[in-house]
Amino acid sequence: MKINSKDRAKAQWDAADVPLLEVSDLKTWFEVKRGIFSRKAEQIRAVDGVTFSLMANETIGLVGESGCGKTTLGRTLLGLEAASGGSVFFRGEPLLTLSHRRMKAMRRRLQVVFQDPLSSLNPRMNVMDIVTEGLLQFRMLTDSREVHAKRLLREVGLDEEMIYRFPHEFSGGQRQRINVARAISLRPDLIICDEAVSALDVSIQAQVINLLLSLQQRHHLSYLFISHDLSVVSNIADRIAVMYLGRIVEIGKTIDIIEKPLHPYTRMLIAAIPVAGQKRVDQEMVTGETPSPAAPPNGCHFHPRCPEAMPVCRHAEPPEAWKNGHYVCCHMYRPNSG
Ligand code: SF4
Repeated sequence: MKINSKDRAKAQWDAADVPLLEVSDLKTWFEVKRGIFSRKAEQIRAVDGVTFSLMANETIGLVGESGCGKTTLGRTLLGLEAASGGSVFFRGEPLLTLSHRRMKAMRRRLQVVFQDPLSSLNPRMNVMDIVTEGLLQFRMLTDSREVHAKRLLREVGLDEEMIYRFPHEFSGGQRQRINVARAISLRPDLIICDEAVSALDVSIQAQVINLLLSLQQRHHLSYLFISHDLSVVSNIADRIAVMYLGRIVEIGKTIDIIEKPLHPYTRMLIAAIPVAGQKRVDQEMVTGETPSPAAPPNGCHFHPRCPEAMPVCRHAEPPEAWKNGHYVCCHMYRPNSG
């Protein structure tokens, strides 16, 4: 395969030992007006001080229940929501303060695959136009649109003769492959997959995950894989970050998170994974509802649901502890370095 100058620049970045994406103390707060004449304002802290980094060719799985802020985090990184504080560096550039022009150029390197394969495709455009639209916008067409579209369809395991069909003529799994083809068309560095397989049947989920893994190897991609399903995430992620009420409460290598989870919330999520042929009546199943991010509990946000809660958890913010690259935020673990 011919290597162009853009691919060479990407390979140089891949070789560097610095994070592709560095997120520090990122906050996305929304103000909601309530009451008579909308005078009373409430602050929804959807993302409330998130810090993590992602290396080139790495996949981080971001898990948590609905409403924990994981989708808002992804949308903030994409510039679809305005950040309220913190910083985001992508390829060493400060994403949150980039000019509109520079941000547009950067968007080529930062792509997304959304949950609903049908609504994220324009029903009036055929597949060729959908998957080559970005190439046209960014003036990256080196051949006819037809040639590019056929290559992209082959890459995602679809018949190249389908390029003139419209989205409604495909199954859910095929549509998600088209979304993936569109995402990789611009040779991005990072793809944010927001519940990208959640709407698919289990067998199709596995196929799309295998496709993402093979594309990652071929194109040196990084993924931020957002999902509520820890078992799905564990099949694709190198590391897993667990999010609760706008904050990351634990992050570590996938094997450590699955086999040696530290945070009580992570343990509850793992206990909730269904096992074929087993009825689960587990003590550690997730119980209770997630509190409103407009009025998070004092101290540890998780204390009303935590089976391990201690008196200190009700009033003091839990400390952050790192050990061998495993991060946890809980009063049960003493801070140390590692
Ligand atoms: Fe549970 Fe306390 Fe740890 Fe929070 S800090 S997870 S309430 S033990």
